[in-house]
Parts: sequence; C-alpha cells; structure tokens
Amino acid sequence: MDAHRFYIGGEWVAPLGHEQVDIRNPADFSPLGTAILGNAFDADRAVAAARKAFETWRFSTVEERLDLLRRMRAAVEAAAPTIAEHLIREIGLTTMVAGGQSHMALSHFDAILDLLPSYPFSEASTERVELVKEPVGVVVAITSWNAPVSQMLCKAVPAIAAGCTVIVKPSEQAPLCGILLAEALQDAGIPPGVFNLLNGRGADCGQRLVEHPDVDMISMTGSVPGGGAIAAAAAPTIKRVHQELGGKSPNVILPDADFSEAIPKGVFTCMMNAGQTCAAPTRMLVPEDRFEEAAAIAVAAAEGFTVGPPDQQGVTFGPLSNEPQFMRVNAILEEAIAEGQPLLTGGPGLPEHLDTGYYARPTIFGPVDPDARIAREEIFGPVLCLMTYTDVADAVRIANATEFGLSAYVEGADSALARKVAGQIRAGWVNINYPAWTAAGPFGGYKRSGNGKQYGVWGFEEFLETKTIVV
Ligand code: NAD
Repeated sequence: MDAHRFYIGGEWVAPLGHEQVDIRNPADFSPLGTAILGNAFDADRAVAAARKAFETWRFSTVEERLDLLRRMRAAVEAAAPTIAEHLIREIGLTTMVAGGQSHMALSHFDAILDLLPSYPFSEASTERVELVKEPVGVVVAITSWNAPVSQMLCKAVPAIAAGCTVIVKPSEQAPLCGILLAEALQDAGIPPGVFNLLNGRGADCGQRLVEHPDVDMISMTGSVPGGGAIAAAAAPTIKRVHQELGGKSPNVILPDADFSEAIPKGVFTCMMNAGQTCAAPTRMLVPEDRFEEAAAIAVAAAEGFTVGPPDQQGVTFGPLSNEPQFMRVNAILEEAIAEGQPLLTGGPGLPEHLDTGYYARPTIFGPVDPDARIAREEIFGPVLCLMTYTDVADAVRIANATEFGLSAYVEGADSALARKVAGQIRAGWVNINYPAWTAAGPFGGYKRSGNGKQYGVWGFEEFLETKTIVV
C-alpha cells in the first residue's frame, strides 16, 4: 500500500507536508510501512476540491446519489476481507472485532439506501410555505483509531447522501486504513472532490480543516479534549460541530439479576477490544451486601480471558492499539495502585506469558472510591471498576455521577424495574440485558460525551439544513 499520497479531487496526489511516520503492528512491532502526514497546505487543497465539487453535487438527484452509494457499498463489500485483515495488523483488532466493524461499515450504507428513496426533501408546511432540506455543505470528518473504517463511513455515507462533499481525516495513530478505504472506493466512480481523504495530525492539518472558512461542518469522533479543541477552533466561523466523544458507562447489576450470567457478560463487554470501545461499560455497580460474590465472579471471568496475538483463534483480546495508549493505561493503573484503590486482578505491565507488544492485563479494581481518577476518567483499556450501591436510587445516583453520558447498561430480571432505571440514567443509549447491536436508533452522547447523533435518519439529518420558502 502506498501511503505517501492523498486522495483529493478524484486523484491520488503527492502530499505537500513531509512528515513521515513508521507504522508498526502493535502486537509484535513488525513494520507495516510508512505514511506521510499532511500539513495545512494539504488541508487547503482538500477544501478547495470539496468546495468546487459541492457546487455540482448539491444539485444531484436522489437517484444519482443512490447509484453512487450502491457502487461505493459494492466496493467496500469487495474490500471488506482485506480491510478486516489490515485492521488486525494496524490496530490489533481480533478477527471477531474486525469482522464486526466491517459489518457495521456496510450497515451504514444499508440504512441510507433504505431511507433515501422516500426521504421528504421537500414538504408543504402550509399552503404558502414549503420546507426544503438541503445539504449543509463541505463536511470534514475527523475520526479516531479504534473503529476507523466504520467511523469514516458512518460520517461520509450520510453526508454524501445528503448532497454534501466530504474530506476525511483519519487519526494519525492509524493512517494506513484510510488509504486502504480510499483505494477501495476509487473504482466506484465517485465524482471528483465528493470524497477526499488525507492524513495528518490534529494540531496541524486537522486544525486548519476545522478553522477553514470554506468548511461548513465538522463531524468528529474522538476524545473530550480533542472535541473541545475542535469546537473552540470552529467557533469563529460558526460551523456546525457534531461530536461523538468518550464515555465512562455504568453497568447497573440490579439485585434480581442473575449474577452468574450478567457479571461475566459485563466484564467481557467492558474488556472487548482491549477496552478500547467508547461505549464500554467500565463502571459495574453491584449491591453493597453482595460485593464479595460479585467480585469473585468478575475476577474469575477476567482471569479466564486469553490475551494474545489478535489473529489467533480463541484470543479474547489483542494489544492496545498504539504506544501512547499503552503508556497512558499503565500510568493510570500505577496511579490507582499508589493511591490505594483495591486491585482485585491484573495491574500494569504485560501479561506474564507475553514479552513484546502493547498488551495489557485484564484488570479489575473494587470497591473503587467514586472520586478516584479510575472511576471518573475514561481509561480506554481493559480496566473495570467495581463500585457498590445501597439501593436502586443510590445506583442511579452513582450511574449519573459522571461528566459523560454516552451509554449505560442495566441488568435485571424484573423488566419493568430495569426499564425504569434505564429511564432515569442520563445517557444517550441504554442497553438492558445485553441486546444484540442494532442501528435502529440514534447513537450519540449526553453531557460531555458529545453533541448530535449518528445512524439512520437521525445521523442523516445532521448533514442537512432546512430552508423555508414562502410564496
Ligand atoms: P483524539 O481526540 O485524540 O483524536 C481524534 C481525532 O481528532 C484524530 O483524528 C485527531 O487527529 C483529531 N484531533 C485532535 N485534536 C484536534 C484539533 N485540535 N483539531 C483537529 N483535529 C483534532 O481521540 P483518539 O485518541 O483518537 O480516540 C479515542 C477517543 O475516541 C476515546 O475518548 C473514545 O471514547 C472516543 N470514541 C468515541 C466514539 C463515539 O462514537 N462516541 C467512538 C469511538 C471512539
């Protein structure tokens, strides 16, 4: 793969920036290649291409958009096995998680292909008033590294369907996967400038994209500090900013839950993908008088996981995706131990059977002090905080005692009680008793977990403006 080029204006162009980075497999540090990170001049060039294309693409018909999206979907589907194999190497996803992300990526096309034919782009409000839905304009999609291809498509697909043109800037921690996606898409016959992709750091290339006066909207997935910096940089030009940010999701194990099922599933959901999942249930809330029982089940589950090379069968999770993440997770664990948070299993450093790679040990602390850093901050590693509650009202209070509000989990036998608790938690997505993943509702955080929604019609409408025409 040649990652010394960007896809801009319908062709592969040589970057204007010169920073070259080595990309290595986080499981064994074997070299995967090098990539060029662009600068502000690359950002300007991408914006010019997208702006020019917008003047045509915004008038495309629904049929033209459907045609294009069908071709793009076919291209992504054909490349899905290659992309999944690559994600295992570049960011350490297990085969199962990589397959799940490919499925999610295609589901973003399917949702839009379903809704676009009947979407009311024009409606009469009264006899004299027409409401028209129009594309918001040039969209910059900025993504993180933990589910990169799915995130790029989750933004680009509805934006293009809305009549916008898109510039994708993937994370500098995983620059190869975006190139692979653009390679897959280049044969789909995308009109020049409708889909553009460049690599670059947030503070340089990303910042220029966000500040650029010819960009109308930013759709960003990443951390709260990153999201805040982007919102601040976008403010002077009054851009729409859609943010999908981090979480510290509670998992309320109600007293009537079947602990033997609910707790192991909760530990797995927390630690899947080495804990690098925005919606991971990282705070497990259990009844105070049954803490010992809950802790024993949770520890047994974590100690039963197999950490190892992500392409090997039977591995529960692979390495952390990159060096900064490895350093950060270990520093937080060391701090928690130093301040006396009770470590039940795991801890900093490599698992005993591994001597290379950015691997982390399945780690559980409990009962954790709700004011401790590990109880408040997103760690993005395989780390579970067990916390105790006295009664259901106390559980809801603790669940809500966070600056985040991305998702939450409730487990219990009494479905009316579980539903009541779900209604009391301030989070954008609440799972009751670990349902299968679905895109049938909007996904997006409350509080500092973000602004705006993705998936389906809700995600699509983020990329539309409403015009009123009065006769
Ligand atoms: P990050 O904030 O460091 O970076 C995310 C992206 O933003 C990168 O492409 C980066 O280059 C860019 N960026 C950062 N600062 C910028 C700036 N000032 N201007 C322009 N661009 C800038 O986050 P990360 O470490 O890549 O990702 C991990 C985070 O993403 C976690 O907090 C995780 O919870 C979150 N996440 C959220 C969701 C969701 O849907 N809510 C999904 C996946 C990941």
